[in-house]
Amino acid sequence: MTTRLRVLDDGAWLSVDDTRRVSVSELWRLDAPGFCECDLADLVVENFLDVGVDGRTVTARVYGQCIVCGTKSTVERVPVGRIVDGEFVDIDREGVLSVRRSAAGEPAGDEPDKTTG
Ligand SMILES: [Zn+2]
Repeated sequence: MTTRLRVLDDGAWLSVDDTRRVSVSELWRLDAPGFCECDLADLVVENFLDVGVDGRTVTARVYGQCIVCGTKSTVERVPVGRIVDGEFVDIDREGVLSVRRSAAGEPAGDEPDKTTG
């Protein structure tokens, strides 16, 4: 089963299987060394540039601004969700999103989602 990941509306939405799932204007707390000088960047998402999948993690290339220091830049491979059994599942984007430079296996302490049903 393949999952179709697309950027729609000039970067305003991430679409999964033709359903809009993630929109701009979210505020993300990023652990993204190199994006700006902050330990954690408070990024306002302005544009999605690309979307892909890394293992079972859906990652996006995002343009946005850190509202703490004002840096505007692009972040590569921000995790925004997961593919579970061919379905897109949101991750908790109100927590810290860790942007891994080079994927070297799953991060420790990555607990499975609480699922009901
Ligand atoms: Zn910053």
